[in-house]
Amino acid sequence: MDSIYLDNNATTPLLPAVADAMRPFLEQTHGNPASAHHFGRKARQALEDARERSAALLDADPDEVIFTSGATEANNLAVLGHAGEALGQVLVSPIEHPSVLEPVQRLGERGFAVEYLPVDGAGIVHGEELENRLLPDTRLVAIQLANHETGVVQSIKELAARSHHSCVRFHCDATQGVGKLPVRFHELGVTTLSLSAHKFHGPKGVGALLLRRDCKLRPLLSGGHQQQGRRPGTESVMLAVGLATALALARQEAEVRCERVVAMRRRFLALLRSQAAPVILNGPEEGTPGYGLPHTVNVSFPGCRADTLLMNLDLAGVACSTGSACSSGSLLPSPVLQAMGVAAGNLESAMRFSLSALLSEAEVQEAARRITGVVRRLRQTSGSV
Ligand code: PMP
Repeated sequence: MDSIYLDNNATTPLLPAVADAMRPFLEQTHGNPASAHHFGRKARQALEDARERSAALLDADPDEVIFTSGATEANNLAVLGHAGEALGQVLVSPIEHPSVLEPVQRLGERGFAVEYLPVDGAGIVHGEELENRLLPDTRLVAIQLANHETGVVQSIKELAARSHHSCVRFHCDATQGVGKLPVRFHELGVTTLSLSAHKFHGPKGVGALLLRRDCKLRPLLSGGHQQQGRRPGTESVMLAVGLATALALARQEAEVRCERVVAMRRRFLALLRSQAAPVILNGPEEGTPGYGLPHTVNVSFPGCRADTLLMNLDLAGVACSTGSACSSGSLLPSPVLQAMGVAAGNLESAMRFSLSALLSEAEVQEAARRITGVVRRLRQTSGSV
């Protein structure tokens, strides 16, 4: 068996049906959607159709969908775009993706008072902790839907409801949730929500920011009127069509995909626990609060070092990660696991395996066998077992 891909939180393979839907817009329809002639009108029609389909699937209105180059841009646009001239407090969870944390830090440098919300051992942000910290000058709350490293899912609807007072804007990075969990924008009650197509078998380089229609946002870019000036620049019709198609397929197949991944995770975790013990799960157990994204299995193998493990697993034909792909160049321990209070020995031996419904049962079993072999060998070499 070839290499087995267990890094689906970093990115997922493009589905052939999505590529097929995009192809005509790569090869034939080349008009600029802003042009008034019929080439332009044809492109615009496809773009607006993709916007409408995406909006309907996410319980948003079409004019609330701003296409972006991905979730990094959408998160930057939300965090920096929400912050007006008036300084105030920004509340953020410490387990956010760097594309939320770093723009928040920039707000801190501009004079905003940044406060990090505590999370419990499973990585959950509790409503009371948020409510206790809200101030009359709180401008922005940023809490993600599902975590990229552990899969913990936050109760966004409750958190957004608790943070309602007139000046607070609530941004939710739903990049790891959209396409895997049902996400209904209006029902969640947030001001903005970000997503990225390549996390649910769509193309890379496209995402969206949903922005509640009664809210204005300061754009990051200037120099064009596209997307009501909120994200100027010629839109990629092909990528927007890819995003809408991948989202529609995710919705159509939601139940089947979810059942497959839930069963896969059970089997995978059970194999690791029985053959590579001790194995410590970082994040919520199935059936406990915060559980909801079965795609992510973050486990520590005490006695191993994550960087050595990662290299050896790659050689053994298992592709996984030590954390977010955007910080995988870093040798520092994961800030997500640190915020959860994971003990030092478990921090340095934590690995993230992320599943998708496209994996076969045989691949998951084989991956667990290869992982077990490498973990046992490394523990023997280090003399820890
Ligand atoms: N937020 C989260 C939670 C993510 O997992 C990622 C992708 N690693 C991003 C944002 C950034 O997404 P993109 O790759 O589309 O820029």
